[in-house]
Amino acid sequence: VAEVIFSGRSNVGKSSVINALCGRKNLARTSKTPGRTRSVNVYSVVMRKWIIDLPGYGFARVSPAEKELWKQMIEECIIERESKKTVYIIIDALVGPTELDLNMADWLKDYNVDYKIVANKCDKISQPDLNEIIKKTAEIFEVGQNFVFAVSAKKNTGIDKFRADIVKFLK
Ligand code: GDP
Repeated sequence: VAEVIFSGRSNVGKSSVINALCGRKNLARTSKTPGRTRSVNVYSVVMRKWIIDLPGYGFARVSPAEKELWKQMIEECIIERESKKTVYIIIDALVGPTELDLNMADWLKDYNVDYKIVANKCDKISQPDLNEIIKKTAEIFEVGQNFVFAVSAKKNTGIDKFRADIVKFLK
């Protein structure tokens, strides 16, 4: 089985991106309250492979105990599964990568898990700025620019290209 995993801080739009990818509004629950995606949701999607939505990490107001619980869930999802997997780290394009995102990337590198970056909410950014953000994001995560996907779940831009990348991996 091949698996695609979405990770990202709370409120970057993970649920919205998954819904846009699947062309369905209510597959993943979106929320106006940051930090609401607290369980690991496993979706069986059209492609009949697994897509895993990790809980958001780094939400400011969670207790250390809850943070530990999230860490365990993430570890179980990513390491303790024997399938071929790739992680898409979703970030808010306007906010840019945070320390937590970079920690996540370092940690995936340590475990030899492949990852790519998805910069969501691109509708908030002008095209010249977006080009610069993609370039900087690739540099910070030490990946090629073709490993950074600029998308807007809201306007549905960049979603087809992103989906094609997922399909290619799952094949
Ligand atoms: P999650 O916590 O990462 O699953 O984030 P959600 O999908 O619940 O989205 C968090 C907030 O960001 C919601 O208010 C969404 O409407 C908003 N949002 C998500 N994607 C986009 C986008 O592409 N553009 C804009 N402008 N807002 C978005």
